[in-house]
Amino acid sequence: MNILETVNLSKTYGKGENKVEALKNINLVIEKRKFTAIIGPSGSGKSTLLHCIAGLDSITSGRVILDGEDISKLSEDKLSKLRSRKFGFIFQNFNLIPVISVYDNIVLPIDIDNKKIDKKYIDSIIDILGLRDKVSKFPNQLSGGQQQRVAIARALANKPEIIFADEPTGNLDSNTTDEVMNLLRFCVDEYNQTLVMITHNDEIANSADNIINISDGKVI
Ligand code: ADP
Repeated sequence: MNILETVNLSKTYGKGENKVEALKNINLVIEKRKFTAIIGPSGSGKSTLLHCIAGLDSITSGRVILDGEDISKLSEDKLSKLRSRKFGFIFQNFNLIPVISVYDNIVLPIDIDNKKIDKKYIDSIIDILGLRDKVSKFPNQLSGGQQQRVAIARALANKPEIIFADEPTGNLDSNTTDEVMNLLRFCVDEYNQTLVMITHNDEIANSADNIINISDGKVI
């Protein structure tokens, strides 16, 4: 079953001489409760694609269909609600807030959405991620791998249907990369979440259920 699909999705940056056709007529499907890897050379359009299907960036033409609904025409307000309810994001540079504790970083998406915190669920994520003794620390007191685990906990806190990840292990050593990948796999297999991840790591791509290969703004 598909959770998300694109129909003739195109994205163009700039105008005239500065025009860049970053995505050209992309038609793809993302299967529900599967791990889809997005691969391709640098500059091929992977981040643009991820941002467009996750409602973080506007598209130039085509459609992005989530659970049967075209989300490409939604207002920024509706899109922002949809993102905070249904999507979780993990980026390479963590994007943690330095002035609040690890715990507050983790539950931030729930606070923003004015939802009730499911303490039991959050506790289980914190334990699985090995962050129990870090919750009252600040992000800069943690190593890179620990900070990435906090970012993952934050992405999972809202029980998102889809986790979008842009090279989340790009700054991590190989042991931490394995830990993070095991956890994300666990989310797909045990929490029935859908994972869409950009990666340059062949081993990670080969562990995916589906691979989308982007070259020069097209799916190949
Ligand atoms: P990748 O993630 O595969 O490295 P990107 O999606 O970042 O590729 O970039 C695809 C193309 O779009 C590149 O030519 C890049 O220079 C261009 N691009 C990306 N973001 C912008 C932007 N904000 N403004 C103009 N061009 C952009």
